[in-house]
Amino acid sequence: MTPSPDRSLRPVISIAGLSRRFGPRLALDNVSLDVTSGQVLGLVGANGAGKTTLIKHVLGLLKPQTGSVRVFGRDPVADPPGVLGRIGFLSEDRDLPMWMRVAELLRYSRAFYPRWDADYAEGLRRQFQLDPAARIKHLSRGELAKAGLLVALAHRPELLVLDEPSSGLDPLVRREMLEAIVRAVADEGRTVFFSSHLLDEIERVSDRIAMMDSGRIVLAGPLTEILESHHRLTLRFERPPGRPPAMAGALRVSGEGLEWTVLCNGARDEFAAAAKRLGAEIVAEEAASLDEIFLARVGRSASALATGEELK
Ligand code: ATP
Repeated sequence: MTPSPDRSLRPVISIAGLSRRFGPRLALDNVSLDVTSGQVLGLVGANGAGKTTLIKHVLGLLKPQTGSVRVFGRDPVADPPGVLGRIGFLSEDRDLPMWMRVAELLRYSRAFYPRWDADYAEGLRRQFQLDPAARIKHLSRGELAKAGLLVALAHRPELLVLDEPSSGLDPLVRREMLEAIVRAVADEGRTVFFSSHLLDEIERVSDRIAMMDSGRIVLAGPLTEILESHHRLTLRFERPPGRPPAMAGALRVSGEGLEWTVLCNGARDEFAAAAKRLGAEIVAEEAASLDEIFLARVGRSASALATGEELK
């Protein structure tokens, strides 16, 4: 008997060399990204970075101009039934029929999905405290997001795609939703591809992350590896170096006089040797947060991203 392939190595999404232009605007610039089954991939980027455009390609709503997209090994543009029935999707705009009541939404959604799990849907409805008699148009922003997530989850899709799932929600609701996402993945080995500009959220739930800026993936990999390979070092010089110290792997340098802080990416030992060569000593060393790493890679902080969200 042939052994079954390792589930954890099965690619669910494979994106290679994907570019997309809207007129003069290059919304996606040679994006390559793989997501394997059972993983939570957090896609982080500021407003306009290209996250929704990338998600639209995964759903087959946009045809690649350059490059390719495969979901479950299939082309989502050429084979929508073979792909979309296996995906649960929550859009940034929620896209729910506003005139329905919650109970009607559940009955209506069930008709589309042969694998709809009514008990699971009811469990989620209770967990999210959604009144079955409430009209969708009267739901709060948080309740709308929960109703959308419920519909996306209840047919137990193999792949859950969430575009800014917690956009505009308070931290409590965000956590509640994120816990549901994590549970969905953990319980059944399913895959989640979600976008957010909230780095704390990305850090809490993702196995892998991809940072986007101006249509490009600027950093991608397992979250733990990314956190472990970035360091914030404080260097102390015997004499003021006169200009910011130059070290291979340094992403951001700040300070003045005798003391400089360097956010760097690479092996820690090499930085110790480089500091010594520059005539400095490493006097403090701390783990860099995802926020700092993003700032160093993209040039804007997470709070700037959040402000962008408010300004939208
Ligand atoms: P946000 O967080 O604001 O949703 P995003 O990262 O999802 O941002 P996209 O919506 O993918 O970003 O947009 C990427 C770029 O492509 C933006 O400059 C946007 O204005 C542009 N764009 C997206 N869709 C279209 C379209 N249909 N026509 C023209 N330009 C578009």
